[in-house]
Amino acid sequence: MDPLDVLMNKDKVFPYYQPIISADKQLIVGYEVLARMQTEEGIVNLGWFFQDKSIPDEYRLELDDYLQSIALDAYMETDQSAVMFFNYDADLLLKDNGETFLKRVEPYRNKGLNLNHIVLELKEEEISEHLNDIKHLFVYLQSIGLRIAIDDLGQSKTNLDQIAMLKPNIVKVNVAFMEEEELPHLYRDVHQSLAMLSRKIGATLLFEGISNFNQLNYSWRNGGRYYQGTYLLSPVPKFVDPMICRDKMQKEFHHFIVFERRKMEAQIALTNKMNQQLKASMKKISETDTYDEMIMLVAKDCNPFAFRVYICNEEGFQQSSNAEKISTNEWILIEEGRYKNWSWRPYFLENIVRMNVEKKGILSDLYTDIDQDERIRTYSYPISDSLFLFLDIPYEFLFEQEGLL
Ligand code: CA
Repeated sequence: MDPLDVLMNKDKVFPYYQPIISADKQLIVGYEVLARMQTEEGIVNLGWFFQDKSIPDEYRLELDDYLQSIALDAYMETDQSAVMFFNYDADLLLKDNGETFLKRVEPYRNKGLNLNHIVLELKEEEISEHLNDIKHLFVYLQSIGLRIAIDDLGQSKTNLDQIAMLKPNIVKVNVAFMEEEELPHLYRDVHQSLAMLSRKIGATLLFEGISNFNQLNYSWRNGGRYYQGTYLLSPVPKFVDPMICRDKMQKEFHHFIVFERRKMEAQIALTNKMNQQLKASMKKISETDTYDEMIMLVAKDCNPFAFRVYICNEEGFQQSSNAEKISTNEWILIEEGRYKNWSWRPYFLENIVRMNVEKKGILSDLYTDIDQDERIRTYSYPISDSLFLFLDIPYEFLFEQEGLL
């Protein structure tokens, strides 16, 4: 379609509203305003019009103004508890420091519109180009009450440092690109870091593009508080009952929780089993045994579920060699690991303190082993207050058990 055709037929353009649902209340808490147009072929999406930078700024601003005014008029007739999300071109916003947009909302402000209920969505890609200017603009817009969302995150490279610097109110991740069945753990790790970062800077994580059960599950597991996508609700021409999704959400959450509980129970069962095994192995050790003799004995006792065993002191210095499995039942000692320090690793100190207090072993999360390049877990066990045994469990074993991956 020709951009001019769009502008000439402005009266056929109207907003659709994509509901945004919150996990905490299972209510529609907001709407993203999307552009639609009535054509002879039916209603079409006009998103392209606003993203095409070859269309003159004034055209895009004119249509944007038209659409947002319709949306705001409609919004003012509601109880205004929902939040309105407007997409905005970061370059255009920057060009006049948000003046055009602020002028547009001014009349509504006079009628009682709360700027806290307006979110500007800016694409990450457009922001990265002028980080410093954007940062100043963000601070200004947020100081007058507007909220900022960084849109379209997580496709390929996500710059966590940029998000930390910009401190948006909302971070939007699109999960539409993920395959139906297999959600690569690579993304999960990125999104988990994003969830942690969002929590630290006080931003809300929103997952969009949710079109199936797995994507909703993924969003829930990765710290998403807000969701949008056709699996929950398709864009609507009019605001709808905020409760409309509640039953469905509650049912889905119940499934998620049952499933996650099973996984946690499996991890606790494995931890308990290993605790018993280690206690039994420790009884066989005599005072004259060296650390290397100790790890070889444990390695053989734990042969089915271990591929590496070593001992560290409470400051993380490795006291033994590595016992490493080289074939089904064969273990060797590798001297080189001795006196390396592991205290810099995430959770190391926390785990040492926990083991000292709780006097029992701990199973780690899943992480990728640098040498093996596959996902493993580490089980750690307190031999004494100052001596700790670490046992790496291979992917192969975790894979065969229920709930450990
Ligand atoms: Ca958007």
